[in-house]
Amino acid sequence: TEIADNVWRGIEDLGAGVSGAFSDPVIRLGVTGLSGAGKTVFITSLVANLLDRARMSGLRAEAEGRILAAYLQPQPDDTVPRFDFETHLAALTGPDPRWPESTRAVSELRLSLRLRGSGLIAGLRGPRSVHLDIVDYPGEWLLDLGLMGRDYDEWSAEVLKRMGEREQARDYLAAIEGLDPAAPLDEPLAISLAEKFTDYLQQARKAGYSDLTPGRFLLPGELAGSPVLTFAPLPGGVAGARGSLAREFARRFAAYQSKVVRPFFRDHFARIDRQIVLVDVLGAIHAGPRAVEDLRRTMADIMAAFRPGRVGWLTGLLGVRRIDRILFAATKADHLHHSQHAALTRIMAALMREAKDRADFAGAQTAAMAIASVRATVEEVLRHDGQELALVRGRTEDGREAAFHPGDLPDNPAAILSAAKGGQTRWLDGDYGMMRFLPIPPGAGAVGGLPHVRLDRAAEFLIGDRL
Ligand code: GDP
Repeated sequence: TEIADNVWRGIEDLGAGVSGAFSDPVIRLGVTGLSGAGKTVFITSLVANLLDRARMSGLRAEAEGRILAAYLQPQPDDTVPRFDFETHLAALTGPDPRWPESTRAVSELRLSLRLRGSGLIAGLRGPRSVHLDIVDYPGEWLLDLGLMGRDYDEWSAEVLKRMGEREQARDYLAAIEGLDPAAPLDEPLAISLAEKFTDYLQQARKAGYSDLTPGRFLLPGELAGSPVLTFAPLPGGVAGARGSLAREFARRFAAYQSKVVRPFFRDHFARIDRQIVLVDVLGAIHAGPRAVEDLRRTMADIMAAFRPGRVGWLTGLLGVRRIDRILFAATKADHLHHSQHAALTRIMAALMREAKDRADFAGAQTAAMAIASVRATVEEVLRHDGQELALVRGRTEDGREAAFHPGDLPDNPAAILSAAKGGQTRWLDGDYGMMRFLPIPPGAGAVGGLPHVRLDRAAEFLIGDRL
């Protein structure tokens, strides 16, 4: 039957050749992660390394010599901004290499691969094409899924409870102290409350928290300043008559759900086949136990989005189509000597497993990895008093070279996870906070692509089976 299958596939492919580009297979790859997780750097490096595959031996189709060509093409969606690959690559590889500008909204890029067929009658049929449509979107927007199915009162109560435990919320809580939610709407007051609430979200993000909805308050795009982003949580239920502050906030919250969240899921999320979620695990570990605990919860929310069975309206949007592979990647692994990569992977995997349990997830195939989209360091070992210290060396932001030891991750991820639940333990205190490396200039004789850590393995998991 294998022969029969291959013959049949061959016939199908011949048919595809006749009917032309319309039937070329398309993989829609979603790339998400919270702000600063590394989406822009990931996409830029993935595309650069697929165009020039000198460092992509972990991608099976490449190792087998089946990728004949790769090229950028116009994307299928005319109204979605194009991912600005050329500008981002120029920033990374110019004479004075810099990190590119981060993701602020949805963007898209199509990369097409020309492949030699595999299988028994590969010789019979000509090369085939596969289009990879990469869709970049902020993880903050994904978390907005958690707002659906809640009304303004429930949302307010939850958010205010969380804020009560955080010093970043002090100004906002002071501003609503003694405020009468039933008083008539006063637009300048509404604007000032929304601004203070946004300030809180920004500060909480800097402190390492990740449960920061509504997502557009942080990344508003073209909605900045519109009424749909001019609300904030208030205590005590929707009070007052029509036209009261609380009533109007509740109305705007509902508009945010129906006019912002739902269209995003319908137009972008619902069409994705494969997904990578980038997670700055090292950043959270460095920020401390509470940030790790918060990340755990956030991961479960993200998982829930990928298991739409529970979310009726989303199931309706998705129909039979569903994401069948999700990769959770701990990014920036080049901050650690490779002897610690396994520990980082274990932490990522433990977070993912927990999130799966919490979200009662039984859907797509998932995997956890530690990667660096662009390696900005080289490794070295320092011998001192008979001890060996594993270091990474890089160019710091003032342009100097320095070697660091970021501290040691525990071998057992449970140590981090359980301490995060209650304890005060800190990790990666050492030099981690100072380690903001610049990309390495591509020296003379540099081979193609960009240096990375396991980006090829990530690509293999995400698209390898379709090549
Ligand atoms: P986005 O907000 O998710 O688009 O995040 P970016 O892709 O802009 O990355 C945010 C920052 O993280 C970058 O400016 C870099 O400082 C850092 N970064 C991202 N990826 C890597 C990586 O692979 N290695 C290192 N060393 N830093 C990275």
